[in-house]
Amino acid sequence: MKKHYLLTPGPTPIPPNVALKEALPILHHRTSEFAEVYKDVAEGLKYVFQTKQEVYTIAGSGTAAMETAIVSFLSAGDEIIVADCGVFGDRWKKIAESYGVKVISVSAQWGKAVKPNEIEKALNANPNVKAVYTTFTETSTGVENDIKKIGEIVEKSKAILVVDAVSGLGGQEFRTDDWKVDVAVSGSQKGFMLAPGLSFITVSPKAWKLAESSKLPKFYFDIKKYKKSYLTNETPFTPPVTLIVSLQEAIKDIKNKGLENMWDEYKLLAGAARAAMKALDLELFAEVPCQVVTSAKVPENIGGKIVKTLREKYGVSIAGGQGDLKGKIIRIAHMGYIGKADLLVGLSCLEMVLCELGLKVKLGASVAAAQEILLKAQRG
Ligand code: PMP
Repeated sequence: MKKHYLLTPGPTPIPPNVALKEALPILHHRTSEFAEVYKDVAEGLKYVFQTKQEVYTIAGSGTAAMETAIVSFLSAGDEIIVADCGVFGDRWKKIAESYGVKVISVSAQWGKAVKPNEIEKALNANPNVKAVYTTFTETSTGVENDIKKIGEIVEKSKAILVVDAVSGLGGQEFRTDDWKVDVAVSGSQKGFMLAPGLSFITVSPKAWKLAESSKLPKFYFDIKKYKKSYLTNETPFTPPVTLIVSLQEAIKDIKNKGLENMWDEYKLLAGAARAAMKALDLELFAEVPCQVVTSAKVPENIGGKIVKTLREKYGVSIAGGQGDLKGKIIRIAHMGYIGKADLLVGLSCLEMVLCELGLKVKLGASVAAAQEILLKAQRG
């Protein structure tokens, strides 16, 4: 059996103590035993999201919470602003448009971050806008958007701010309440160090007001159902109990480690990954790189082969480009249960693959560059 190294920006590897919890006997979800777990998880989620608001758990991948964030607050014909800069920003548009919501795009070129002042301009020009939807860390390009700044702008308007923090949460500083984010969504398979299958959503008082007037059709993704069940520490439908039990363990780990310490660790790994790309003469793709995934341009003639060869020959999984970026970039994750040693292994195998594919690479160069950064941090 081949040993696998998962360095993809979701799913990420999960710690053994978290994985073991999935093997425990199934709890029934309408019992005090489960309610206790759910209550603990719900409190822990507030810490990870840095919010005082309730955080609801929905069975489904991150997109389930995204769809909930469209159908629960809007009505057909409503106008929204989508500030997008990649595949996942574009997903907000696709969900909204499929429900008959009118989208005003404030798009940034892929590789660049959305411009907060353009959102401000769009809000001033369209006073009926109900919400601004954007992405925290755009996983498809490796770009980070300035949510704090966007929050300051949107707070002054009638609109709510909805942020996709699916890949960034847990991986780098994100403060739902302090940054005036009305609705934040995330998923289990990235910073939470958990298997895919759960998504999460927070709702501010301003967003609840909007929910009252929402008329879009909804059933499973109706946020009001989740709020009602939350009162009794339940979910409205049968939850993936095993995932919730393992989430309790994952949150325990996050709390023990401390969010700030986690953010610092991924920041260090991100710095090491960026230095490694530079040492390989691979240009970084993101103008404002996030801390959870590093993206770099690769020659188009070998772009498609790098990811496949790495996985097939060495068992190392990284990601390639999505959509228009297919074959043009590679993406190496440093989030979740990915540590220094994983990154060094991944870089060393990447060098060999680049050599095999005909690129002029000085073996050891990227590993040495990453090691320098990691050692420097240890020395302080
Ligand atoms: N948003 C972002 C930023 C993501 O990285 C992802 C997953 N790659 C999603 C949304 C979609 O989440 P899922 O695939 O879990 O539905």
